[in-house]
Amino acid sequence: MTKPFSIAIHGGAGTILKEQMSAKLKREIIEVLSASVKAGERVLSSGGDAIDAVVEAVKVMEDSPHFNAGKGSVLTHNEMVEMDASVMHGAEMDAGAVAGVRHIRNPIELARDVMRDSDHVLLIGEGAEKFAFEHQHPYTEQDYFFTERRYEQLLSMKEKGLFALSESKYPDDKKYGTVGAVALDSHGNLAAATSTGGVTNKKYGRVGDTAIIGAGTFAENNNVAVSTTGMGEYFIRKTVAGDVAARMRYLNEDVHTACEVIIQGELKAMGGEGGLIAMDAQGDIHFAMNSSGMYRASIDTSGELTVKIYADE
Ligand code: ASP
Repeated sequence: MTKPFSIAIHGGAGTILKEQMSAKLKREIIEVLSASVKAGERVLSSGGDAIDAVVEAVKVMEDSPHFNAGKGSVLTHNEMVEMDASVMHGAEMDAGAVAGVRHIRNPIELARDVMRDSDHVLLIGEGAEKFAFEHQHPYTEQDYFFTERRYEQLLSMKEKGLFALSESKYPDDKKYGTVGAVALDSHGNLAAATSTGGVTNKKYGRVGDTAIIGAGTFAENNNVAVSTTGMGEYFIRKTVAGDVAARMRYLNEDVHTACEVIIQGELKAMGGEGGLIAMDAQGDIHFAMNSSGMYRASIDTSGELTVKIYADE
């Protein structure tokens, strides 16, 4: 008998306005979420490793303009795309991450290459790109990542002198659009992956939680895999993903309790908005958010596919 496997993904948490969400946009987002979770499930059902499942799932969302990762990433103050990504494999607690990359089509694949093919965990900027080009990642022009929507968001943020979230015409403009995945494979391995363009109007080489192991991404076999989304400055200081793992490891809390204590309790009390996905060693999934919605999907150990957007679903 094959051991159970399971996968969950997110496409960012935040305010998603039901009344502004057109049927067409909703359908398109649901299609990408389903395609993403199914891409991961294909890897798992053929006996593949959890790390390859989460990377494949995240890639589908990086390639879609609807999410803040890869194509469709938000713009910096200087009107550039600068992306962060990380992966972690729970067997040996191997990890790889990149920050501030500008010309890499799928930063999540680069993060996996950093994990597998370098002696390091986190590479940044030009150095990360040099490593990428030496490892068969083609140079991708900035134009590929640009979308009109992100440009409008940047202009509206610049006008207000803010960074992070904008208020313009899209139903999910107040949503952190980072993408992520967690999986349990049939060998008992847990893995997590997270990828983002960061926050709109960011300056000075700002890096968020998505590139930071223990903040945005964490995986530990026989315990839990976690991927987060929200305002990175809070998630870094609260070491959110690592904290979920620590609560389960030291307090023997179940995955549901550990996630809720942090997202609804300590993180919220600090003022941190966002959410996370987590999977325990049995393949049990928990989606947590302290916002009105989070794009999310899963295929559980019984093979059931679920796709949701709003917190009250
Ligand atoms: N966590 C990301 C960051 O702060 C943003 C997001 O979740 O969309 O860079």
